[in-house]
This record gives sequence, C-alpha cells and structure tokens, in this order.
Amino acid sequence: MDILAFTKVISRRSLLKGAPLAAATAVSLGCLTPGEAAEQQPKLSQALSKYQGTPKNGQQCSNCSHFVAPASCAIVVDPVVPQGWCQFYVAKP
Ligand code: SF4
Repeated sequence: MDILAFTKVISRRSLLKGAPLAAATAVSLGCLTPGEAAEQQPKLSQALSKYQGTPKNGQQCSNCSHFVAPASCAIVVDPVVPQGWCQFYVAKP
C-alpha cells in the first residue's frame, strides 16, 4: 500500500471511529432518530476496503460484526454478499 492510500485508510478509519460518537450524540440530544443517524454515516468504497465476493481464510461477511442480512454492510458500500470479505472484517463475538 502506498503512502497516499494508507493516508486515506487512516483518515477513513478516523472518520469511522468518530462518526458513531457524533451520531450517538445527535440521537441523545434528540436531533436524529437512530435510523437517521445510521443513514448519515459515510460508508467506505468497496475498492478502498479491498472487498471481494469470496471468503478469505475462513472469514466472510456472514460472520462479520458489520454484516446486515441479507446483503448489506454497516461500513462498506452495498451490496455485499454473505460469502464476501474485506480488510475491515471483524469476527462476531
Ligand atoms: S467483511 Fe467487510 S464488507 Fe463484509 S460485512 Fe464485514 S466489514 Fe462489511
């Protein structure tokens, strides 16, 4: 990964870490409903996320914490498939 791509990933990660807090604050202040807050969070592109439509090393969207059945992801632009994978995979607890 070159430095420009790395900087974009770090920047996006920072955004993702801050966005939920901002959304939660807006919800708690009554500015947004939870659904509205979820809709306003930016999603990462599939290219930036290195999304692929196949599993990687036993990891796949259907067992990722960010997966929203049947074909959506909370942080990566839709559509995704249950058998897909990206570099932001987080195993469900
Ligand atoms: S692996 Fe990536 S694209 Fe799939 S659900 Fe998880 S974060 Fe979303």
